[in-house]
Amino acid sequence: MERDRAENVTTRLAQVRERIAQACRDADRDPASVRLIAVSKTFGPEEIAPAIAAGQRLFGENRVQESKAKWPSLRATHPALELHLIGPLQSNKVREALTLFDVIHTLDRPSLALALARELRRADSGPPPRLLVQVNTGEEPQKAGVAPHEVDGFLAECRDTHGLAIEGLMCIPPADEPAAPHFALLAKIARRNGLETLSMGMSGDYEAAIALGATYVRVGSAIFGGR
Ligand SMILES: *Cc1c(COP(=O)(O)O)cnc(C)c1O
Repeated sequence: MERDRAENVTTRLAQVRERIAQACRDADRDPASVRLIAVSKTFGPEEIAPAIAAGQRLFGENRVQESKAKWPSLRATHPALELHLIGPLQSNKVREALTLFDVIHTLDRPSLALALARELRRADSGPPPRLLVQVNTGEEPQKAGVAPHEVDGFLAECRDTHGLAIEGLMCIPPADEPAAPHFALLAKIARRNGLETLSMGMSGDYEAAIALGATYVRVGSAIFGGR
């Protein structure tokens, strides 16, 4: 049973890698320009270990508490791992998040930019994380993210008011719409702001995201199975 589960992860991870390579060939892109984040939320060491054994180094989680329980021990034995926060971050969890994550994809509001800047000014805060701004490309009221027409202003505020270096943009398209127009919109906003990092594409649409310029794809169920 355990062994089957591990073999499944290994097989599916290899398939996802092959499809990413093919999508890069189709789009005439350097495969090294697309990095795979294995989204391991809800899964434990039995599924994560085989992915690490197969060479996977970037992992994504959506909750600070869950990550705190899972990752410190894995990171102690695998120092090359890189952990990405892809879920919402509450301001009162910023300090913990900074100790756990190398990259935060979900900077989505001025109050969080302020909280991050404050925390990073503390003498003992570690190296700053890489930061991406989440954009609500579908302008869905229930979804986190900066509205497309507010991104330029928010990026300027992060830089000029808070001294935060923003590396790129992230989006989660509406579940009930074709994703490609949202990926194209994110790429356009990034381009006009001189940003090169684009976090977009999940299990159902990562190939489309690669065609439109994704530099990080966040793939969960296609690697680890259903949640
Ligand atoms: C869960 C999650 C993913 C991965 O979703 P899959 O459909 O399982 O690949 C990607 N991005 C975010 C923000 C997520 O929360």
